[in-house]
Amino acid sequence: MAENNNPQQVKKLDLAVRSALWLGPLKSHSKASNAKASQPDSQPGKLGQPSPLGKIKNPRGQLVDVLVARGRIVALVPAGSLDVHAAEEADARGLLLLPGLTDAHTHLREPGQEYKEDIASGLAAAAAGGFSNIMCMANTRPVNDNASVTEFMLERARRAWPGGPRLFPIGALTKGLKGQELASMADLAAAGCRAFSNDGAPVASTELLRRAMEYCQDLGRVVIDHCEDPWLAPGAGVNEGEVSSRLGLAAQPDIAEAIQAARDVLLAEYLGAPIHLAHISCEKSVAVIRAAKARKVDVTAETCPHYLTLTEDEVAGYSSLAKVNPPLRTKADVEALLDALADGTIDMLATDHAPHAAHEKEVEFDAAPCGISGLDTALSVTWELVRTGRLPFDSFLRAWTTAPCRRFGLPVNTFAPGDPADFLLFDQEAAWVVGPQTMHSKSANTPLLGRGLRGRVAAHFLAGKSIV
Ligand SMILES: [Zn+2]
Repeated sequence: MAENNNPQQVKKLDLAVRSALWLGPLKSHSKASNAKASQPDSQPGKLGQPSPLGKIKNPRGQLVDVLVARGRIVALVPAGSLDVHAAEEADARGLLLLPGLTDAHTHLREPGQEYKEDIASGLAAAAAGGFSNIMCMANTRPVNDNASVTEFMLERARRAWPGGPRLFPIGALTKGLKGQELASMADLAAAGCRAFSNDGAPVASTELLRRAMEYCQDLGRVVIDHCEDPWLAPGAGVNEGEVSSRLGLAAQPDIAEAIQAARDVLLAEYLGAPIHLAHISCEKSVAVIRAAKARKVDVTAETCPHYLTLTEDEVAGYSSLAKVNPPLRTKADVEALLDALADGTIDMLATDHAPHAAHEKEVEFDAAPCGISGLDTALSVTWELVRTGRLPFDSFLRAWTTAPCRRFGLPVNTFAPGDPADFLLFDQEAAWVVGPQTMHSKSANTPLLGRGLRGRVAAHFLAGKSIV
């Protein structure tokens, strides 16, 4: 925390961002009233320009100044309300203020598959995409199942992006992700792993998962499980249903995910241990999570932008760019996930950024790898849900910022005094076309390729320093 939170008494402000549009609450300068900070204390509709809010649900909407010293928020105040000067001044008129986002689920491919992505390019995509913190999965080559791989990842991140985005590796649950023997989780945690997961290779053995959860709980870490019953899911990448039978593709039913989710929450309930469920894709899993939360099970869950916006129809032309695991589901699943994200049953959003080279995707559907490159497009795609009124602004903020940060112990900016000065200036109107030239990831494997999106990050400040 900053030692002095009164902006008029802070001797030296490093940065003042002027006249940004802020849709959230304003927080008091005094620490004592921070507990009530989630209550809106500003009136809506006090804009000095035509309202750009459209159908956005529950915004407060006012122009603000962001004051920063020593990398932390000093205050967020109505624009022009404090007569203070900073070493650096930035004019943010016409831009939306957002806290830096956190992505708890990416694949950065380094070490071992740098032709798809490396830590430098993955962090470039994160910076441009609005992510101040990202967590990266362990299915690298070699697997991140020992401290030397974790240390290598962190060193690469420090060299490529010394000012952030911050990288938080996720350790493997089992050696080589083989699902037979637990990895050295204490060493991995000491080296910097913030969570543990076998993501990409489901943990078939419930007994092994039990031991992993018990061990992680002792370490103060959370297991992230990729929910997929391996016996029910011989064909990944397409939902079992009308589209898969028309195309004659081996498919994965939604219950392959929901059965494993049910196992996981029952185990978490029995052990009194936390569990986080990765990339939830279907209504049946939502029902499992909702019931578990009603019983106070310590479960959190994420879904991804593609499950909120695309359906199995994307693969109807054998398009391998839409091949992802778990697969894109039905319109009813999309609606159920949106409702669950809005009401908090699904806690957070994550990209499951899974870059693959063009030549790997340009093969027959069955032979193509699963995955979508997501860091560049996630904010534009999910902001469109807010803009059209389908996702409440408060749910959007929670899903991309407070929920992942609190679950995994990462720094988070709520614009309270003393918070890390990680924030974005977002140009809601900037139109762009998704493609290799407009993406910062090495790989443009996304079903959105060639489509137009609205909204881009105009500036990204991390600990008060501009990184975009
Ligand atoms: Zn993944």
